Amino acid sequence: MKELLEGKVKTVFETDEEDKVLIRYEDRVTAFNGEHIEYPRDKGATCCMISAFLFERLERVGIKTHYIDVPTLNTMLCRKVKIVPVEIICRNRAAGSIIEHTEGLYEGQSFDPPIIEFFLKDDYKGDPLLTLDRVRLMGIDPEPFILRTTEINWELQKIFEKIGMDLIDFKLEFGRDEHGGLYLADEISPDSMRLWKKGSKERFDKDLFRKDEGDIVEAYKYILQKLRQSV
Ligand code: 5GP
Repeated sequence: MKELLEGKVKTVFETDEEDKVLIRYEDRVTAFNGEHIEYPRDKGATCCMISAFLFERLERVGIKTHYIDVPTLNTMLCRKVKIVPVEIICRNRAAGSIIEHTEGLYEGQSFDPPIIEFFLKDDYKGDPLLTLDRVRLMGIDPEPFILRTTEINWELQKIFEKIGMDLIDFKLEFGRDEHGGLYLADEISPDSMRLWKKGSKERFDKDLFRKDEGDIVEAYKYILQKLRQSV
């Protein structure tokens, strides 16, 4: 299979069908723009299975995603899309960069309504925060992204509430197919969200790795097991 793209934690391959790609989730975790890297066993498969579970749940309520199937534990067959070069962060509570880059916020502070932010998807430029005017200058209408992210947040919050987790924040990426149709793409797993055990700050996400506070694979497997038990 021809490799199309190697990302930090995923590799994208061509398939026999022009409109589909195969994405392999690697046993790799990185932080601080790739400066800190480890290779935990089963991490790829666990993120792949959690993403598949969440994509399926979102599809069921009418949200279009690039997900098609999981032919093996760590590979995902997906619709081929062109990734829109913005990362959309949705925050229900304060954590991470928003506390670092503003003043007067405390960790865990609730945001009502949730905050939706756009960042440039460009590792070389350090993924800077964009204004809505800058998003428009890039030729991107932010409105459909805000609407979809709001719907996805609503659905994800319900899913995680059911397994006793608070969804603090998460990152989304979207892509367009050749007809311009907008699809949720990339992955949705604890690698790209913050999950705290209900009513506490006990982490079940990538912050365990960023802060060197515990075993991410064990935490991610717990999330996967709870999600599967919840249906
Ligand atoms: P923060 O802005 O605090 O760095 O991140 C907010 C949320 O988005 C966190 O859940 C974080 O994991 C996720 N996030 C932000 N940027 C990235 C990224 O480049 N990759 C991944 N996997 N997640 C990200």
